[in-house]
Amino acid sequence: MKKLKVIQKGWHLGQDGPGHRLVYHLQGCNLVCPWCANPEAVAVNGALMIRRDRLLSEVCPHGAIHDQALDRSVCSSCEARECVTRYPNEGIRLSCTEHAVSELMDEVRAARHLFHSGGGVTLSGGEPTLQFAALGALLEALKAEGVDTAIETNGTHPDLPRLFPLIDTLMLDLKHYDDAKARATVGHGNTTVLANLARAAAEHGRVWLRITLIPGFNSSPADLAQFVSLVSTLPQQHLSVELLAYHEYGRVKWEQCGMNYNMNVAAMPTPNVVEYERQFRAAGINVINT
Ligand code: SF4
Repeated sequence: MKKLKVIQKGWHLGQDGPGHRLVYHLQGCNLVCPWCANPEAVAVNGALMIRRDRLLSEVCPHGAIHDQALDRSVCSSCEARECVTRYPNEGIRLSCTEHAVSELMDEVRAARHLFHSGGGVTLSGGEPTLQFAALGALLEALKAEGVDTAIETNGTHPDLPRLFPLIDTLMLDLKHYDDAKARATVGHGNTTVLANLARAAAEHGRVWLRITLIPGFNSSPADLAQFVSLVSTLPQQHLSVELLAYHEYGRVKWEQCGMNYNMNVAAMPTPNVVEYERQFRAAGINVINT
């Protein structure tokens, strides 16, 4: 029985795909973007998230909790994780839970009457393709019952095109147009990403290319000219671009996961995003805002 590690689920209207959608965020990511809004999603087997004001030493039989602080060096060799498996509490939790595809399908069927305005199910992350086999099984089950599907992916999985027939809306996040700069900052180059993007633009019926504008990384006027130039070379018929402004909503969760949030840049002013959108449109590229 195929199982998926799920971080959270929620409802979005007009975001993460068309219409009113049930969005599942899946555990695990192969990138380490310093601005990540869901840092708890990165560790493949889940992250321990703490609330210091509720942290109790009694829930750890290995002495990893002292003075409302967690010694994660002890946790790294702990397989039982009694603090979450045996003594569930408000001070510490694992970022994900496991669910069989059949269990998720039961949930989808029960919620289906809410998929209005062209809605359906979106699988986001983390990076959903890290759980490729189970992801494929869920997408197959959704399509077999006529549910509209969307995924949000970083495009790094070499077999992503195999999933195209099962995906109604493919949202692909492009971090950078330059392979070396992508590799240096997010830990993964973009050769496969660009190959998947080219195939998607040529073969898929609805592709939303998302670019999050990160000051100091990919959002200078020169960067924008490169992005526009790259996207201009792709088939445009089923392709749309969405520009997203950097935000630091994930900062608190970085701290809860025991990681340092090292982004110290001001959010890009909205007028610049609007001007950049204008440049894409001037090049004949469809721009959307969701
Ligand atoms: S993961 Fe293990 S060592 Fe860490 S707090 Fe939980 S029980 Fe203790």
